[in-house]
Amino acid sequence: MEMKQVSDNCFAVLIEKNRVCDANSGLINLAGGVVIDTQSDLAHARQMIEMFSKVWPAMPRRVINTHEDADHVWGNQLFEGAEIIAHRSVPERMKHVAEPKESQKMLHGVGRLLTRLVLKTLHPGIVAAGQQLLEDYNFDGIELVLPTTLFDTRYELNLDGTEVHLIYVGPCHQVGDTIIHVPKERVVFAGDVLFRQCTPMGWTGSYEKWFQCLDLMIQLDPEVIVPGHGPLCGIEGAMEMKAYLQYVRDESKKCFDNGLPSLEAAKRIEFGPYGEWRAPARLYMNVERAYREFRNEPPDAPWDTAGTFDAIYQVAKAKGVEVEF
Ligand SMILES: [Zn+2]
Repeated sequence: MEMKQVSDNCFAVLIEKNRVCDANSGLINLAGGVVIDTQSDLAHARQMIEMFSKVWPAMPRRVINTHEDADHVWGNQLFEGAEIIAHRSVPERMKHVAEPKESQKMLHGVGRLLTRLVLKTLHPGIVAAGQQLLEDYNFDGIELVLPTTLFDTRYELNLDGTEVHLIYVGPCHQVGDTIIHVPKERVVFAGDVLFRQCTPMGWTGSYEKWFQCLDLMIQLDPEVIVPGHGPLCGIEGAMEMKAYLQYVRDESKKCFDNGLPSLEAAKRIEFGPYGEWRAPARLYMNVERAYREFRNEPPDAPWDTAGTFDAIYQVAKAKGVEVEF
């Protein structure tokens, strides 16, 4: 984990490994401070607080959650008494997708030899993902703390004269997707609308919405974008992700028209230049999402998590790349 100053008053904490759960956080160091996203577990949240505390005068009074996923909200409880801001959908969604008990149980199971051996035959992807997570994470002690200030399309903060715009852009990666724009400092905190140098994972939403959001970020013309995952970038980061999503959707369409199932398609579609990104086999999720759209399924059709991790595992094996999530 490292901290970077991205403008006069904006900072980022970045996790270099850039695998699943390695989410970035932001800080706008004005008017008592605003923290953007709170990490995946308490140890990482404490480390983030310690890094930011080198530049802030005191614990911030405000937190923004860019969306409902666990890796962006599981440190909320350490910001006692803070106002937590998010899109209106986020509290209910968090109860579904970021309930810590299931994940705690999963990691404990994978950590036990016997359970791991039994589970491995049923769900090799879950075991591999769990083992990867155990290298860095411990979900014990996490309690859900829900956002308290909710908004619909836009929310504006005025921090000592500096405007901060929260813009709702979902659902493209998740239902609650929000980007945070600081026009005066030409900074955008993108949350998981932008994955940088790692393969995007989208859960709820449509390709069209995602393209619109990436176009909006480009139009805002920031000097720095802090992605939800991966290193800092400029608008070229948004352009590259758009090109990736377009490529995957086009290739998926050809496979769909040829009657291939989505898993087969993900095994056949070339990674191309995107094979350099972390966890390229997460391609499966983007193919499956495209297939759902081709079949006119609703954007919020639920995912079978175990099946999804198993599919990513199978794609990595078929392609002969490292199994990575
Ligand atoms: Zn994330």
